[in-house]
Amino acid sequence: MKSETHESQNSIVKVNAISRAFGAFNALDNISLNINKGEQVVICGPSGSGKSTLVRTLNGLETIDSGSIEINGITLENKENILNEIRLHVGMVFQSFNLFPHLNILENLILAPMKVKKITRKEAEEIAYNLLKRVHITEQALKYPASLSGGQQQRVAIARALAMAPEILLFDEPTSALDPEMVGEVLEVIKELAQSGQTLICVTHEMNFARAVASRIIFMEKGKIYSDQKPDSFFDEENDPRIKAFLGRINH
Ligand code: ADP
Ligand code: MG
Repeated sequence: MKSETHESQNSIVKVNAISRAFGAFNALDNISLNINKGEQVVICGPSGSGKSTLVRTLNGLETIDSGSIEINGITLENKENILNEIRLHVGMVFQSFNLFPHLNILENLILAPMKVKKITRKEAEEIAYNLLKRVHITEQALKYPASLSGGQQQRVAIARALAMAPEILLFDEPTSALDPEMVGEVLEVIKELAQSGQTLICVTHEMNFARAVASRIIFMEKGKIYSDQKPDSFFDEENDPRIKAFLGRINH
């Protein structure tokens, strides 16, 4: 097991000894983690290792049994006002897009900023169009989600998360529900975000993407962080049979 320390003044996520059980099963087993502003963290590992549970705890979608989580200096608690505050800082993009089907793309993007940030429709639309440009789909603004391809819907979902200007963006396997030919366009958008300095945490098994984008790769197993290191050393882990076996499996 290899680990690098990442303590610094720039800490934006501090996870201190968290655990979460479902019945007798420890989905998260005493995990500690520090993430700095501007880091791009990829989380990978076998199915059931706790990846989704971990990222979901970071914006309070999943509760913890013990330990603590601090986001931007705010201690996460299961209270409505705290959760609302945390979710202003932490955006999330899911595997299955989760767009509002009865709203067109523009409305999907302006709803939360108008409601939560109390900005005008005009301001919200301006932000929305800029973001649609950023994810390369301005021409779809007035269409409904169902008429877009999966890749386009996921890019809208990314724009919708960005509309709240979150300091941290969480992705949980953002391309695993997509047809293979659409994976690239979504990864490209995330890559551009990463290069712009967005702090992001992305669960994915797209290892070429991880190699290109991640500042750190966390490998989880059985509810624990098995390794946490820079891509170069992760992919060079020839002497770690566990990681080698995992990489071998997903490359086929
Ligand atoms: P991963 O994303 O790495 O595949 P998860 O975090 O989704 O893993 O799940 C870790 C383990 O916790 C799995 O064995 C899963 O069945 C279990 N688990 C996750 N969420 C729940 C839940 N809401 N109720 C019961 N078990 C759950
Ligand atoms: Mg998962």
